[in-house]
Amino acid sequence: MGERERAGPGPVDLHIHTTASDGDFLPAQVVSMAVRAGLGTLAITDHNTLGGVEEAIRAGVEHDLAVISGVEISANHGELELHLLGYFVDWRDPVLRRRLADSEQEFVRVYAGRAARMRALGFRVEDADILEMRPDGSYMLKSLLDALLYHDREGGDARLDPYRKGDLAARLAFLQAYQQPGGPGHAPMEMMAAAEAIELVRRAGGVPVLAHPGTILGEGEAPAALEPLLRNLAGWGLAGVEAYSSYHPAAVARDLHAVARRLGLGVTAGSDYHGPRLKPGLELGSVAADSREVLGWLMDEAASNGQDQRGKGDGAQCGPQDPTRRPEPGRPPGGGVTPGVLARLPGRPGIRGAHLDAGDEGGR
Ligand SMILES: [Zn+2]
Ligand SMILES: [Zn+2]
Repeated sequence: MGERERAGPGPVDLHIHTTASDGDFLPAQVVSMAVRAGLGTLAITDHNTLGGVEEAIRAGVEHDLAVISGVEISANHGELELHLLGYFVDWRDPVLRRRLADSEQEFVRVYAGRAARMRALGFRVEDADILEMRPDGSYMLKSLLDALLYHDREGGDARLDPYRKGDLAARLAFLQAYQQPGGPGHAPMEMMAAAEAIELVRRAGGVPVLAHPGTILGEGEAPAALEPLLRNLAGWGLAGVEAYSSYHPAAVARDLHAVARRLGLGVTAGSDYHGPRLKPGLELGSVAADSREVLGWLMDEAASNGQDQRGKGDGAQCGPQDPTRRPEPGRPPGGGVTPGVLARLPGRPGIRGAHLDAGDEGGR
């Protein structure tokens, strides 16, 4: 790919982590890598922080690459943990920044509490090993298990035997045995409610999109089962669904796309790139969309915030969105990605079930 082809529209990867949360590379490094990978646009979406956005935007200006400010907020909805992406948020917005800082403190507090409960059960685990990791639910669980296994390399604690492989199956078994609500190592977490996260993103001028919804499906459950949840979230102002994700096998992506369109929600694509340490084999831009279509839709949605919020009063209050925002049934579906323009960069693995787990989707 020649130098000149870099400028202008190209594939867009809307889900990328940096060292500001649990990614391996600095924001400026990610931007250079995206240029080399031939991406036209990227969005920085660190977990519960906007800390990497400004550096990425500066690097984007230097490299002539469009960078979208973004964030991935961990939120609760009933028993579920949801990840809500916010695109085009004002990264300097003081209300959003303060709320994100609060939730990060809560993550640190809860994982220290969970480590203490494991110690009380006689396991060896140090806070420092866990807390150097940044706030992502599954990653924190993984790091808690990794820390336990690290201190038991000689295999002295037979209770850890079922989890020694440390893979996804082992983590889920560990979750079931110790970290479920009511489990012996569990400490409850007060996460932001999904409605509040959506409202925060909207108030900061952003576009809320549900990240990798396939991860909240139960075993063998079809994406259509998410329809009531998505309808609910749409009522609060959710704009779109990340149907195309490294978490989703192709059939799940296709079905999520159909569900989103039925509800008049937009559809986006993103790799959830972290770097080789957390997600080995998953490359930047490996799940990407045509930038013109998805960016046009995102910008229209972001622009609609001003109109909807005008005169709504006190910015500090968070509650359900004006339900008149919801797309009318029968209206042409919302924007975002259409299946025909979903792009896989040449030589990239394309959509893979990266953590669901390796093996089912032609991993290398
Ligand atoms: Zn996520
Ligand atoms: Zn992510």
